[in-house]
Amino acid sequence: MDHLPIFFDVRGKYVAVVGGGTIAARKTEMVLRAGGRVTVFAPELGPDFLEILRHDGLSHSSAPVSREALAGAVLAYGASEDAATDNHLFELARELGIPANIADTPEKCDFIMPAILDRDPLVVAISSSGSSPILARIIKARLESVIPAAYGRLARFVGRHREKVSAALKRGTDRRRFWERVLEGPIADLVLAGADDQAEDEIAALIAASGKAAEAPMPGEVYLVGAGPGDPDLLTFKALRLIQRADVVLYDRLIDDCILNLVRRDAERIYVGKMNRDHTMPQEDISKLMVRLAKEGRRVLRLKGGDPFIFGRGGEEIEELAKESIPFQVVPGITAASGCSAYAGIPLTHRDHAQACIFVTGHGKNGKLDLDWKTLLQPHQTVVIYMGLSMLPELSREFLERGADAGLPVAVVDHGTRRTQRVVSGTIADIAGKVAAAEFTGPSLVIIGSVVTLRDRLKWYAPESSASDEGDCLRTLSLDPIEIQTSEPETA
Ligand code: SAH
Repeated sequence: MDHLPIFFDVRGKYVAVVGGGTIAARKTEMVLRAGGRVTVFAPELGPDFLEILRHDGLSHSSAPVSREALAGAVLAYGASEDAATDNHLFELARELGIPANIADTPEKCDFIMPAILDRDPLVVAISSSGSSPILARIIKARLESVIPAAYGRLARFVGRHREKVSAALKRGTDRRRFWERVLEGPIADLVLAGADDQAEDEIAALIAASGKAAEAPMPGEVYLVGAGPGDPDLLTFKALRLIQRADVVLYDRLIDDCILNLVRRDAERIYVGKMNRDHTMPQEDISKLMVRLAKEGRRVLRLKGGDPFIFGRGGEEIEELAKESIPFQVVPGITAASGCSAYAGIPLTHRDHAQACIFVTGHGKNGKLDLDWKTLLQPHQTVVIYMGLSMLPELSREFLERGADAGLPVAVVDHGTRRTQRVVSGTIADIAGKVAAAEFTGPSLVIIGSVVTLRDRLKWYAPESSASDEGDCLRTLSLDPIEIQTSEPETA
């Protein structure tokens, strides 16, 4: 992040603007709207100032800005469109320690002006850190269409009841839940629809009811959420909503930072992952921990790579919850097989190649594979092996010994759907050697079957990941239902 995003209180404070043209008028107007006092230094003021000229907080000086005149300003804007004049202001501001902003000159900006969406008192500021003001404006335009003007009224409504609610509900978690109930439920709908009287009655009733309920802690719940194979754009809307609602998150190694960053900043994060064979936390302890946290009244997010019910031990975790009568929700995720196959350009089924697809785990008990070989060796099907990387040499040897064709196509996808995704393809006879040479680190998925040969034709259309590279998490924000984006096929 190149800039610190802050909202600066200029009410009653002096701000200097140099210039009498359109840009200067816009900056002046913004400062006036925020309650600042502005002195505009310009030989004369252009027509854009006509509208704001009568504003109480505005004065005009036709003399050039001097050190004395600038003293006491909290901010200085150079917008004269004359380099020497703006430069002079910048030098003076430097000497006096006043943060300056010289229009269209990023190297002479101590601060930049975001694009804003104004639903006073709700204000959304958007910045591209100066790299593309147009992109910031496009995002603003999209937000304009999904944040109705009435949200300002909603924010004022909340503001009016804040003190009362704080008095009735002492615990921060209770207050947060109360406001979520208001803002995501019928009361907000009433305010947005202009039915303020009815909304007032409803919120009064809710405050009374919550005050009583608050004496006993509200019961917590658990969200078992599939986070997909890595690319945050593959999360579901429901996953995102619950991720942002949780008070505490239990996550493991398969969860990408981009996804973890979507968790509320004040939520507690607990790593319960497994590193190789060194189990950080045994499964029973994870289940017990979830039960304990939920009993404390917390909303517990259990983030799982891929889908919680596919080799994710999700079933075991909720068994414990059910036994203890803890309310829970399970959110399916895109499993590694779907994610990896799509991003590698390998359809799992295909009319000419495979009419069935089997998911198995290659994680052998005590280093021994325990698989139903008769089923795996059937023709016209695709076999997907989870957790098969370390056993790949044994797996391919067994396939061959049990009669598989040495030319049976195989692909291994490492870090599927992430920026770091790599795919190696070959045959059941040579795949283990190729993967060893490529030094895959995992997570890796093994795909066996003639669908693998389609990759050469289809890989060009495989979607691009939005995960992992630094700064790339930005696209994740487009997960907001507002901005559903589909990846353009890569054509070159
Ligand atoms: N519940 C998860 C699977 C957990 S088992 C799901 O539905 O995807 C862990 C195994 O999943 C890994 O050993 C690997 O085989 C596979 N896997 C998970 N994420 C992957 C990824 N991004 N790329 C390749 N394989 C992945």
